[in-house]
Amino acid sequence: MHQRLANALSYGEFHVVYQPLIRMETREIIGVEALTRWPQRDDTFAPPETFIAQAETSGFIVQLGEWVLRTAAEQVKIWQTMSGKPLRLAVNLSGRQFTQHNLLRTIQDVLHETKLDPTTLEFEITETVAMHNAEDSIGIMRQLKQLGIGISLDDFGTGYSSLSYLKRLPIDKIKIDKSFVRDIPDDTNDLAIVSAIIAMAHALGMQVLAEGVETEPQAEFLHDCGCEYAQGYLFGRAIVAPDFQELFLPTTRP
Ligand code: C2E
Ligand code: MG
Ligand code: MG
Repeated sequence: MHQRLANALSYGEFHVVYQPLIRMETREIIGVEALTRWPQRDDTFAPPETFIAQAETSGFIVQLGEWVLRTAAEQVKIWQTMSGKPLRLAVNLSGRQFTQHNLLRTIQDVLHETKLDPTTLEFEITETVAMHNAEDSIGIMRQLKQLGIGISLDDFGTGYSSLSYLKRLPIDKIKIDKSFVRDIPDDTNDLAIVSAIIAMAHALGMQVLAEGVETEPQAEFLHDCGCEYAQGYLFGRAIVAPDFQELFLPTTRP
């Protein structure tokens, strides 16, 4: 599998796609999440959950992740320059990447090469990864924060979370998992969970982004609960850079 993935990377088979991140108050785009796609010969896409997990097991995620970061940082730097806006870039960090000994060095190299302002970069880490060896996680996150980079806790509510560590982790933003958003506003349990997560995050000084927002009633409920940011098909799917630019940054065309 490692060899197959390495070949795919060297043949340029992977793509980075960009999904808009929205400020709920104004509905403006404040950034993008970079997501990886691996098109197959039969015109389908390999499911990211599957090939990312395979890349994680084989260790290839370290190379793939570095490529995604560099590609997305280059692209977002171009968009920032064209638009004159500090568009944010969110990149997922897997467990193996997060604990890789030269993670900081790699990130610093990419920031240097692409000239991306580190304060416009944020990494998404799942709570399970963050809580595993939480003491080490705190150290790594602090180093990232010292570079000016933001940290989001991805898929919040689905993994293993310790509240005693949550309050100690230097996290800027909690991303509520889309499984809690899906049945808003019909499922009263989900309404309770989502509003409680938002209240807790705010009490801990963290901001909140809701994933998987697909409908107007979902967006309205989340906004009423004080959720600052959202992401989902209501606002836009993850698409390749030229399409993203045409759809979301039309005035920035040269
Ligand atoms: P994630 O980081 O939680 O990314 C959000 C996922 O939700 C994406 O799935 C996105 O396409 C999907 N999504 C966004 N809006 C909606 C919506 O309104 N409704 C629904 N049903 N889904 C929505 P995707 O692209 O399939 O990625 C799945 C997961 O694979 C990601 O979850 C992330 O954990 C992982 N992944 C993807 N690309 C990378 C990467 O470059 N590196 C790492 N480490 N992981 C990645
Ligand atoms: Mg993510
Ligand atoms: Mg997520």
